[in-house]
Amino acid sequence: MLDYIIVGSGLSGIAVAEKLLSKDKKILVYDDNSQSSSTVAGGIYNPVILKRFTLAWNANEQLDTALSFYRSLERKLEISLIHPLPIYRRFHSIEEQNNWFSAMDKPYLSRFLDEKLVSTINPHIPSSFYFGHVRETGVVNTELLLEKYRAYLTEINSFQQETFDFDQFEVNEDHCIYKNRRAKMIIFCDGFGLKTNPYFNYLPLNGNKGEYLIIKAQDLKLEVAVKSSVFIIPLGEDLYKVGATYNNWDKTKEPTLEGKNYLLEKLNGFLNCDFEIVDQVAGIRPAAKDRKPLVGKHPKHGNMYCCNGFGSRGVLIGPTVASELINYIEDSVALSEEIDINRFAKLYQAASS
Ligand SMILES: Cc1cc2nc3c(=O)[nH]c(=O)nc-3n(C[C@H](O)[C@H](O)[C@H](O)COP(=O)(O)OP(=O)(O)OC[C@H]3O[C@@H](n4cnc5c(N)ncnc54)[C@H](O)[C@@H]3O)c2cc1C
Repeated sequence: MLDYIIVGSGLSGIAVAEKLLSKDKKILVYDDNSQSSSTVAGGIYNPVILKRFTLAWNANEQLDTALSFYRSLERKLEISLIHPLPIYRRFHSIEEQNNWFSAMDKPYLSRFLDEKLVSTINPHIPSSFYFGHVRETGVVNTELLLEKYRAYLTEINSFQQETFDFDQFEVNEDHCIYKNRRAKMIIFCDGFGLKTNPYFNYLPLNGNKGEYLIIKAQDLKLEVAVKSSVFIIPLGEDLYKVGATYNNWDKTKEPTLEGKNYLLEKLNGFLNCDFEIVDQVAGIRPAAKDRKPLVGKHPKHGNMYCCNGFGSRGVLIGPTVASELINYIEDSVALSEEIDINRFAKLYQAASS
């Protein structure tokens, strides 16, 4: 008998799996690569919303938890995951500069917003209105994390590369059965795959498609991330990620010409050196209607849970929220109401009536 089956090994599934393993639980994780949000993510951790200069939801608390989580994975997997990287917000007007200074008076933001504006960061990215520096930011290499964590799970016989087929799944009062495996509990960490999950598809998950261009710009030599109308993130070897797009209506996973043209138009608005496009990637961010995570117990089945709804901030949110879920299941610590899927109980009733 397994303790847990986990469906999905993106940022959510990994955080859930790791927390369970730390409690000596016997787990089996399924993944079929049907979603790519965690793989294509920029991997940025940044507590500040750079459009409005506000603190992202609980971000100051999540930051410390997330960094210590990824550090522990660096040691365990013997890889380098965290790359501190300053972010410079390119201002487009005096008003934006003023908003930056007003934001510094808000609770918690002074920790992250540098009061000294910078006039130049790179000759190929000019700005008439200077740049603001966000402190304590960086990038987690999510692609490497997923690859190495799945390899580790495989090594300990806890990973199945396959589609979780709901037709072969049975849920009973005190255990569930999938194919020939029995488990006490099951946790769905299926990202936008939740849409085809018959148990949790009543939840209001709006996929938000994001696309990045990968460009090569030999003259740029940029060593910080810049946020103008879009982000430009250095990857090394003269490669940069440019994006991302936000699209609420296209739910396909493939990169689009529309996405490419949009990103090119934005990039050409602030970058003045030659570059070539070497790749384009896309994924669907699993975002809840109210922009809060979707975490908790199924309304009918006491041994079935979900951990989803990380939106555009999975790197920061994942470790804290997964930990809350496991403390709730294993130690009966109450979930915070704002993440508990119980807030959508009425939707479940409506869907099942
Ligand atoms: C373009 C883009 C840029 C982003 N940039 C950032 C960023 O810079 N910083 C940040 O913090 N966040 C970023 N995000 C958001 C972040 O990627 C998400 O919040 C996070 O990846 C969600 O993780 P998840 O594990 O919930 O979902 P997913 O990564 O989608 O993982 C779900 C997993 O479940 C598997 N699965 C689903 N259904 C099944 C099934 N039936 N059987 C087997 N397996 C199944 C899928 O294959 C997948 O691996 C970005 C997202 C996009 C798209």
